[in-house]
Amino acid sequence: MNKFRSYFPFFRSTVDQPIVWFDNGATTQKPAVLLETEQKIYQDSYANIHRGMYTTSEAITAQYEQARGSVARWINAQSEDEVFFTSGTTAGLNCAAAFWGPDLVKAGDEIIISAVEHHANFLPWQRLADQAGAVLTVIPINPQTCRLEIEKVTLSEKTKIVALAHYSNVLGDVWNGALEAFCAAAQQVGAFVVLDAAQSVAHRSLDVQQISVDYAVFSAHKVCGSTGVGAAYLNKKWHEKLPPFFVGGGMVSRASYEKSSWLPAPLKFEAGTPAIVQAISWGKTLDFLQDTITINEKNNLKDLMQQLLQGLQAMPEVSLLGNPTNIVQSSLVTFFVPGIHAHDIAACLAGKQIAVRAGHHCAQPLFDALQITSSVRVSLFYYNTAEEVDYFLTMLSIILKQLR
Ligand code: PMP
Repeated sequence: MNKFRSYFPFFRSTVDQPIVWFDNGATTQKPAVLLETEQKIYQDSYANIHRGMYTTSEAITAQYEQARGSVARWINAQSEDEVFFTSGTTAGLNCAAAFWGPDLVKAGDEIIISAVEHHANFLPWQRLADQAGAVLTVIPINPQTCRLEIEKVTLSEKTKIVALAHYSNVLGDVWNGALEAFCAAAQQVGAFVVLDAAQSVAHRSLDVQQISVDYAVFSAHKVCGSTGVGAAYLNKKWHEKLPPFFVGGGMVSRASYEKSSWLPAPLKFEAGTPAIVQAISWGKTLDFLQDTITINEKNNLKDLMQQLLQGLQAMPEVSLLGNPTNIVQSSLVTFFVPGIHAHDIAACLAGKQIAVRAGHHCAQPLFDALQITSSVRVSLFYYNTAEEVDYFLTMLSIILKQLR
Protein backbone atom coordinates (compact mmCIF):
# COMPACT_ATOMS: atom_id res chain seq x y z
CA MET A 1 0.00 0.00 0.00
CA ASN A 2 1.43 3.42 -0.90
CA LYS A 3 1.86 5.90 1.94
CA PHE A 4 -0.81 8.31 0.74
CA ARG A 5 -3.36 5.49 0.34
CA SER A 6 -2.73 4.35 3.92
CA TYR A 7 -4.39 7.57 5.17
CA PHE A 8 -7.74 6.45 3.72
CA PRO A 9 -9.57 3.93 5.96
CA PHE A 10 -11.85 2.93 3.06
CA PHE A 11 -9.02 0.93 1.53
CA ARG A 12 -8.30 -0.82 4.80
CA SER A 13 -11.89 -1.65 5.62
CA THR A 14 -12.38 -3.31 2.25
CA VAL A 15 -9.14 -5.21 2.39
CA ASP A 16 -10.74 -8.69 2.17
CA GLN A 17 -12.64 -7.63 -0.90
CA PRO A 18 -10.77 -4.61 -2.22
CA ILE A 19 -12.68 -2.22 -4.46
CA VAL A 20 -10.75 -0.57 -7.21
CA TRP A 21 -12.03 2.96 -6.78
CA PHE A 22 -11.83 4.51 -10.25
CA ASP A 23 -14.83 6.82 -9.86
CA ASN A 24 -13.03 9.75 -8.29
CA GLY A 25 -14.59 12.20 -10.74
CA ALA A 26 -17.93 11.38 -9.10
CA THR A 27 -16.60 11.52 -5.56
CA THR A 28 -13.42 10.76 -3.64
CA GLN A 29 -12.83 8.57 -0.60
CA LYS A 30 -12.19 10.25 2.76
CA PRO A 31 -8.97 10.45 4.77
CA ALA A 32 -8.84 9.59 8.48
CA VAL A 33 -8.33 13.26 9.35
CA LEU A 34 -11.83 14.06 8.08
CA LEU A 35 -13.49 11.27 10.05
CA GLU A 36 -11.54 12.07 13.21
CA THR A 37 -12.25 15.80 12.97
CA GLU A 38 -15.99 15.30 12.58
CA GLN A 39 -16.20 12.78 15.39
CA LYS A 40 -14.13 14.93 17.73
CA ILE A 41 -16.23 18.04 17.12
CA TYR A 42 -19.57 16.31 17.59
CA GLN A 43 -18.24 14.52 20.67
CA ASP A 44 -16.31 17.28 22.41
CA SER A 45 -16.92 20.75 21.10
CA TYR A 46 -20.10 21.08 19.07
CA ALA A 47 -22.13 24.33 18.98
CA ASN A 48 -23.62 26.72 16.44
CA ILE A 49 -21.36 29.44 15.03
CA HIS A 50 -21.36 33.24 15.01
CA ARG A 51 -24.02 33.46 17.72
CA GLY A 52 -23.13 32.03 21.11
CA MET A 53 -21.28 34.07 23.74
CA TYR A 54 -19.98 30.90 25.41
CA THR A 55 -16.58 29.31 24.83
CA THR A 56 -17.71 26.34 22.74
CA SER A 57 -19.45 28.58 20.24
CA GLU A 58 -16.52 30.97 20.07
CA ALA A 59 -14.10 28.07 19.56
CA ILE A 60 -16.13 26.43 16.79
CA THR A 61 -16.62 29.80 15.08
CA ALA A 62 -12.84 30.22 15.04
CA GLN A 63 -12.44 26.73 13.54
CA TYR A 64 -15.05 27.48 10.87
CA GLU A 65 -13.24 30.68 9.94
CA GLN A 66 -9.94 28.75 9.80
CA ALA A 67 -11.58 26.38 7.33
CA ARG A 68 -12.46 29.39 5.16
CA GLY A 69 -8.77 30.26 5.25
CA SER A 70 -7.81 26.73 4.19
CA VAL A 71 -10.15 26.89 1.19
CA ALA A 72 -8.85 30.37 0.30
CA ARG A 73 -5.26 29.10 0.37
CA TRP A 74 -6.18 26.05 -1.71
CA ILE A 75 -7.38 28.25 -4.58
CA ASN A 76 -4.92 31.09 -3.92
CA ALA A 77 -7.62 33.67 -3.18
CA GLN A 78 -6.23 37.07 -2.32
CA SER A 79 -8.25 37.27 0.86
CA GLU A 80 -10.29 34.86 2.96
CA ASP A 81 -13.46 36.91 2.69
CA GLU A 82 -13.57 36.14 -1.03
CA VAL A 83 -14.63 32.59 -0.08
CA PHE A 84 -18.04 31.59 1.17
CA PHE A 85 -19.41 28.16 1.92
CA THR A 86 -22.26 26.68 -0.11
CA SER A 87 -23.82 23.25 -0.19
CA GLY A 88 -21.86 22.41 -3.37
CA THR A 89 -21.21 23.23 -7.01
CA THR A 90 -24.81 22.79 -8.16
CA ALA A 91 -26.09 25.11 -5.43
CA GLY A 92 -23.40 27.71 -6.17
CA LEU A 93 -24.32 27.82 -9.85
CA ASN A 94 -28.09 27.75 -9.39
CA CYS A 95 -27.98 30.48 -6.76
CA ALA A 96 -25.84 32.73 -8.96
CA ALA A 97 -28.16 32.29 -11.95
CA ALA A 98 -31.34 32.71 -9.90
CA PHE A 99 -30.34 35.56 -7.58
CA TRP A 100 -27.66 37.46 -9.50
CA GLY A 101 -28.82 36.62 -13.02
CA PRO A 102 -31.66 39.18 -13.14
CA ASP A 103 -29.21 41.98 -12.16
CA LEU A 104 -26.55 40.89 -14.64
CA VAL A 105 -28.58 39.93 -17.71
CA LYS A 106 -31.37 41.81 -19.52
CA ALA A 107 -33.42 41.08 -22.64
CA GLY A 108 -31.23 40.84 -25.74
CA ASP A 109 -28.02 40.20 -23.75
CA GLU A 110 -25.87 37.10 -24.21
CA ILE A 111 -24.74 34.28 -21.91
CA ILE A 112 -21.90 32.11 -23.18
CA ILE A 113 -21.23 28.54 -22.06
CA SER A 114 -19.22 25.77 -23.72
CA ALA A 115 -20.24 22.47 -25.30
CA VAL A 116 -18.62 20.44 -22.51
CA GLU A 117 -20.66 21.76 -19.59
CA HIS A 118 -22.04 19.47 -16.92
CA HIS A 119 -25.83 19.99 -16.66
CA ALA A 120 -25.16 21.94 -13.44
CA ASN A 121 -23.38 24.65 -15.44
CA PHE A 122 -25.80 24.59 -18.36
CA LEU A 123 -29.39 24.31 -17.10
CA PRO A 124 -29.28 27.29 -14.67
CA TRP A 125 -28.02 29.54 -17.51
CA GLN A 126 -30.49 28.12 -20.01
CA ARG A 127 -33.30 28.90 -17.58
CA LEU A 128 -31.94 32.39 -16.91
CA ALA A 129 -31.67 33.08 -20.66
CA ASP A 130 -35.29 31.94 -21.15
CA GLN A 131 -36.52 34.07 -18.25
CA ALA A 132 -34.55 37.19 -19.21
CA GLY A 133 -35.08 36.93 -22.98
CA ALA A 134 -31.31 36.59 -23.43
CA VAL A 135 -29.40 34.53 -25.98
CA LEU A 136 -27.52 31.42 -24.84
CA THR A 137 -24.44 30.93 -27.02
CA VAL A 138 -22.51 27.67 -26.87
CA ILE A 139 -18.81 27.43 -27.75
CA PRO A 140 -18.86 24.42 -30.08
CA ILE A 141 -16.57 21.42 -29.86
CA ASN A 142 -14.84 19.70 -32.73
CA PRO A 143 -16.08 16.09 -32.43
CA GLN A 144 -12.87 14.67 -33.95
CA THR A 145 -10.27 16.54 -31.92
CA CYS A 146 -12.48 17.33 -28.89
CA ARG A 147 -11.11 20.88 -29.04
CA LEU A 148 -13.32 23.82 -28.08
CA GLU A 149 -13.67 26.13 -31.09
CA ILE A 150 -13.45 29.48 -29.31
CA GLU A 151 -12.77 31.26 -32.60
CA LYS A 152 -16.41 30.55 -33.52
CA VAL A 153 -17.85 32.81 -30.80
CA THR A 154 -17.53 36.58 -30.59
CA LEU A 155 -17.42 38.38 -27.29
CA SER A 156 -19.17 41.75 -27.29
CA GLU A 157 -20.63 44.28 -24.88
CA LYS A 158 -23.84 42.19 -25.05
CA THR A 159 -21.97 39.30 -23.39
CA LYS A 160 -22.92 39.56 -19.73
CA ILE A 161 -22.07 36.11 -18.37
CA VAL A 162 -19.46 33.58 -19.50
CA ALA A 163 -19.79 30.31 -17.56
CA LEU A 164 -17.21 27.63 -18.27
CA ALA A 165 -15.99 24.30 -16.97
CA HIS A 166 -12.36 24.55 -15.90
CA TYR A 167 -11.97 20.79 -16.51
CA SER A 168 -14.71 18.81 -18.21
CA ASN A 169 -16.03 15.85 -16.23
CA VAL A 170 -15.94 13.85 -19.49
CA LEU A 171 -12.84 15.11 -21.30
CA GLY A 172 -10.66 16.67 -18.60
CA ASP A 173 -8.80 19.76 -19.80
CA VAL A 174 -10.22 20.85 -23.15
CA TRP A 175 -8.72 24.32 -23.23
CA ASN A 176 -5.22 23.69 -24.61
CA GLY A 177 -3.98 26.68 -22.63
CA ALA A 178 -6.60 29.07 -24.08
CA LEU A 179 -8.79 29.42 -20.99
CA GLU A 180 -6.86 32.28 -19.33
CA ALA A 181 -6.91 34.47 -22.45
CA PHE A 182 -10.58 33.75 -23.11
CA CYS A 183 -11.60 34.65 -19.55
CA ALA A 184 -9.50 37.82 -19.67
CA ALA A 185 -11.11 38.83 -22.97
CA ALA A 186 -14.57 38.14 -21.50
CA GLN A 187 -13.83 40.40 -18.54
CA GLN A 188 -12.56 43.08 -20.94
CA VAL A 189 -16.02 43.29 -22.56
CA GLY A 190 -17.54 43.51 -19.07
CA ALA A 191 -18.80 39.94 -18.74
CA PHE A 192 -19.12 38.23 -15.36
CA VAL A 193 -16.86 35.17 -15.65
CA VAL A 194 -17.97 32.00 -13.87
CA LEU A 195 -15.79 28.92 -13.53
CA ASP A 196 -17.18 25.50 -12.69
CA ALA A 197 -14.13 24.10 -10.91
CA ALA A 198 -15.80 20.92 -9.63
CA GLN A 199 -13.35 18.69 -11.49
CA SER A 200 -10.18 20.76 -11.38
CA VAL A 201 -10.13 21.73 -7.72
CA ALA A 202 -9.03 18.30 -6.48
CA HIS A 203 -5.84 18.74 -8.45
CA ARG A 204 -5.01 22.20 -7.14
CA SER A 205 -5.19 23.62 -10.61
CA LEU A 206 -7.54 26.40 -9.66
CA ASP A 207 -5.60 29.58 -9.02
CA VAL A 208 -8.10 32.42 -8.92
CA GLN A 209 -5.34 35.01 -9.24
CA GLN A 210 -4.01 33.41 -12.39
CA ILE A 211 -7.34 33.12 -14.19
CA SER A 212 -9.48 36.25 -14.67
CA VAL A 213 -12.50 34.86 -12.90
CA ASP A 214 -15.26 36.63 -11.00
CA TYR A 215 -16.95 33.61 -9.47
CA ALA A 216 -15.73 30.01 -9.10
CA VAL A 217 -17.55 27.11 -7.51
CA PHE A 218 -16.66 23.61 -6.34
CA SER A 219 -17.80 20.80 -4.02
CA ALA A 220 -15.98 19.39 -1.02
CA HIS A 221 -16.84 15.76 -1.71
CA LYS A 222 -14.74 15.67 -4.90
CA VAL A 223 -11.69 16.74 -2.95
CA CYS A 224 -11.87 14.36 -0.01
CA GLY A 225 -14.42 16.38 1.99
CA SER A 226 -17.95 15.52 3.09
CA THR A 227 -21.06 15.80 0.98
CA GLY A 228 -23.42 18.73 1.59
CA VAL A 229 -20.68 21.35 1.63
CA GLY A 230 -18.80 23.26 -1.02
CA ALA A 231 -17.40 26.70 -1.58
CA ALA A 232 -17.55 29.66 -3.89
CA TYR A 233 -14.96 32.29 -4.67
CA LEU A 234 -16.36 35.75 -5.42
CA ASN A 235 -13.98 38.50 -6.40
CA LYS A 236 -14.09 41.38 -3.95
CA LYS A 237 -15.24 43.87 -6.58
CA TRP A 238 -18.67 42.16 -6.60
CA HIS A 239 -19.24 41.93 -2.85
CA GLU A 240 -21.26 45.14 -2.60
CA LYS A 241 -22.87 45.04 -6.03
CA LEU A 242 -24.48 41.61 -5.93
CA PRO A 243 -27.46 40.77 -3.71
CA PRO A 244 -27.40 37.94 -1.15
CA PHE A 245 -28.79 34.54 -2.20
CA PHE A 246 -30.87 33.67 0.83
CA VAL A 247 -31.88 36.18 3.45
CA GLY A 248 -32.33 35.17 7.07
CA GLY A 249 -30.26 34.57 10.15
CA GLY A 250 -26.54 35.18 10.36
CA MET A 251 -26.28 37.68 7.50
CA VAL A 252 -28.15 40.72 8.77
CA SER A 253 -26.60 44.00 9.75
CA ARG A 254 -29.97 45.58 10.66
CA ALA A 255 -33.45 44.22 10.02
CA SER A 256 -36.54 46.39 10.35
CA TYR A 257 -39.98 46.58 8.73
CA GLU A 258 -38.91 49.67 6.83
CA LYS A 259 -35.59 48.50 5.46
CA SER A 260 -33.03 45.80 6.12
CA SER A 261 -29.31 45.67 5.44
CA TRP A 262 -26.72 42.92 5.27
CA LEU A 263 -23.36 42.12 6.79
CA PRO A 264 -20.41 42.35 4.41
CA ALA A 265 -19.33 39.26 2.44
CA PRO A 266 -18.71 36.44 3.09
CA LEU A 267 -21.46 36.31 5.75
CA LYS A 268 -23.82 38.13 3.39
CA PHE A 269 -23.86 34.95 1.28
CA GLU A 270 -24.14 32.47 4.16
CA ALA A 271 -27.66 32.90 5.57
CA GLY A 272 -28.81 30.24 8.01
CA THR A 273 -26.81 27.57 9.80
CA PRO A 274 -24.20 26.25 7.39
CA ALA A 275 -22.65 22.76 7.28
CA ILE A 276 -20.39 23.77 10.18
CA VAL A 277 -18.73 20.47 11.00
CA GLN A 278 -18.37 19.48 7.35
CA ALA A 279 -16.75 22.81 6.49
CA ILE A 280 -14.27 22.45 9.36
CA SER A 281 -13.37 18.85 8.51
CA TRP A 282 -12.92 19.85 4.86
CA GLY A 283 -10.59 22.67 5.86
CA LYS A 284 -8.49 20.24 7.91
CA THR A 285 -8.54 17.80 5.00
CA LEU A 286 -7.32 20.45 2.55
CA ASP A 287 -4.46 21.33 4.92
CA PHE A 288 -3.63 17.63 5.11
CA LEU A 289 -3.72 17.26 1.31
CA GLN A 290 -1.55 20.33 0.92
CA ASP A 291 1.10 18.68 3.11
CA THR A 292 0.85 15.14 1.75
CA ILE A 293 0.31 15.56 -2.00
CA THR A 294 3.89 16.27 -2.96
CA ILE A 295 5.56 16.27 -6.34
CA ASN A 296 5.97 12.48 -5.87
CA GLU A 297 2.23 11.93 -5.60
CA LYS A 298 1.68 14.18 -8.62
CA ASN A 299 4.24 12.29 -10.70
CA ASN A 300 2.77 8.96 -9.62
CA LEU A 301 -0.66 10.04 -10.79
CA LYS A 302 0.77 11.12 -14.15
CA ASP A 303 2.51 7.73 -14.47
CA LEU A 304 -0.77 5.96 -13.70
CA MET A 305 -2.56 8.01 -16.36
CA GLN A 306 0.18 7.16 -18.86
CA GLN A 307 -0.10 3.47 -18.00
CA LEU A 308 -3.90 3.61 -18.32
CA LEU A 309 -3.76 5.46 -21.60
CA GLN A 310 -1.20 3.12 -23.15
CA GLY A 311 -3.22 0.08 -22.04
CA LEU A 312 -6.41 1.46 -23.56
CA GLN A 313 -4.65 2.52 -26.76
CA ALA A 314 -3.43 -1.06 -27.15
CA MET A 315 -7.05 -2.31 -27.31
CA PRO A 316 -8.15 -1.85 -30.93
CA GLU A 317 -11.88 -1.94 -30.14
CA VAL A 318 -11.60 0.98 -27.64
CA SER A 319 -12.23 4.54 -28.88
CA LEU A 320 -10.84 7.21 -26.58
CA LEU A 321 -12.52 10.58 -26.23
CA GLY A 322 -10.18 13.54 -26.18
CA ASN A 323 -6.58 14.13 -27.02
CA PRO A 324 -3.94 11.85 -25.40
CA THR A 325 -1.73 14.71 -24.15
CA ASN A 326 -4.67 16.30 -22.37
CA ILE A 327 -5.74 12.93 -20.99
CA VAL A 328 -2.39 12.39 -19.26
CA GLN A 329 -2.53 15.92 -17.82
CA SER A 330 -6.07 15.31 -16.57
CA SER A 331 -6.86 12.60 -14.07
CA LEU A 332 -9.60 10.98 -16.12
CA VAL A 333 -10.06 9.10 -19.33
CA THR A 334 -13.32 8.42 -21.12
CA PHE A 335 -13.87 5.81 -23.82
CA PHE A 336 -16.53 3.94 -25.73
CA VAL A 337 -16.59 0.68 -27.61
CA PRO A 338 -18.72 0.75 -30.76
CA GLY A 339 -21.39 -1.96 -30.58
CA ILE A 340 -21.18 -2.44 -26.79
CA HIS A 341 -23.19 -0.32 -24.38
CA ALA A 342 -21.12 1.51 -21.77
CA HIS A 343 -23.49 0.28 -19.03
CA ASP A 344 -22.69 -3.34 -19.94
CA ILE A 345 -18.98 -2.66 -19.64
CA ALA A 346 -19.40 -0.87 -16.29
CA ALA A 347 -21.66 -3.64 -14.95
CA CYS A 348 -19.10 -6.31 -15.88
CA LEU A 349 -16.31 -4.25 -14.30
CA ALA A 350 -18.44 -3.89 -11.16
CA GLY A 351 -18.61 -7.69 -11.08
CA LYS A 352 -14.80 -7.60 -10.83
CA GLN A 353 -14.93 -5.06 -7.98
CA ILE A 354 -13.98 -2.13 -10.18
CA ALA A 355 -15.99 1.09 -9.79
CA VAL A 356 -16.16 3.30 -12.90
CA ARG A 357 -18.86 5.61 -14.23
CA ALA A 358 -20.88 4.92 -17.40
CA GLY A 359 -23.53 6.89 -19.24
CA HIS A 360 -23.79 10.48 -20.42
CA HIS A 361 -22.12 11.87 -17.27
CA CYS A 362 -24.73 14.64 -16.89
CA ALA A 363 -23.51 16.21 -20.13
CA GLN A 364 -26.12 15.13 -22.67
CA PRO A 365 -25.58 18.03 -25.11
CA LEU A 366 -21.89 17.10 -25.29
CA PHE A 367 -22.80 13.55 -26.24
CA ASP A 368 -25.14 14.90 -28.93
CA ALA A 369 -22.23 16.94 -30.31
CA LEU A 370 -19.90 13.94 -30.21
CA GLN A 371 -22.64 11.81 -31.79
CA ILE A 372 -22.39 9.00 -29.28
CA THR A 373 -24.87 8.02 -26.60
CA SER A 374 -22.69 6.96 -23.70
CA SER A 375 -19.17 6.26 -22.53
CA VAL A 376 -17.16 4.77 -19.71
CA ARG A 377 -15.16 7.14 -17.50
CA VAL A 378 -12.17 6.05 -15.44
CA SER A 379 -11.07 8.76 -13.03
CA LEU A 380 -8.05 8.41 -10.75
CA PHE A 381 -6.83 10.01 -7.57
CA TYR A 382 -3.50 10.04 -5.76
CA TYR A 383 -4.33 6.90 -3.76
CA ASN A 384 -4.71 4.68 -6.81
CA THR A 385 -1.94 2.25 -7.69
CA ALA A 386 -0.20 0.73 -10.72
CA GLU A 387 -1.49 -2.72 -9.63
CA GLU A 388 -5.05 -1.42 -9.80
CA VAL A 389 -4.51 0.01 -13.29
CA ASP A 390 -2.99 -3.33 -14.38
CA TYR A 391 -5.90 -5.28 -12.92
CA PHE A 392 -8.40 -2.95 -14.59
CA LEU A 393 -6.75 -3.31 -18.01
CA THR A 394 -6.63 -7.11 -17.74
CA MET A 395 -10.27 -7.32 -16.66
CA LEU A 396 -11.41 -4.89 -19.34
CA SER A 397 -9.74 -6.85 -22.10
CA ILE A 398 -11.36 -10.12 -20.87
CA ILE A 399 -14.77 -8.41 -20.57
CA LEU A 400 -14.59 -6.91 -24.06
CA LYS A 401 -13.86 -10.37 -25.52
CA GLN A 402 -16.84 -11.80 -23.63
CA LEU A 403 -19.19 -9.02 -24.73
CA ARG A 404 -18.27 -9.24 -28.43
N1 PMP B 1 -19.76 20.36 -12.60
C1 PMP B 1 -18.93 19.36 -12.90
C2 PMP B 1 -17.88 19.57 -13.95
C3 PMP B 1 -19.05 18.14 -12.23
O1 PMP B 1 -18.22 17.14 -12.53
C4 PMP B 1 -20.03 17.99 -11.23
C5 PMP B 1 -20.20 16.68 -10.49
N2 PMP B 1 -20.27 15.56 -11.31
C6 PMP B 1 -20.87 19.07 -10.94
C7 PMP B 1 -20.70 20.24 -11.64
C8 PMP B 1 -21.91 19.00 -9.89
O2 PMP B 1 -21.31 18.83 -8.63
P1 PMP B 1 -22.20 18.52 -7.34
O3 PMP B 1 -23.05 17.34 -7.70
O4 PMP B 1 -21.20 18.20 -6.28
O5 PMP B 1 -23.01 19.73 -7.05
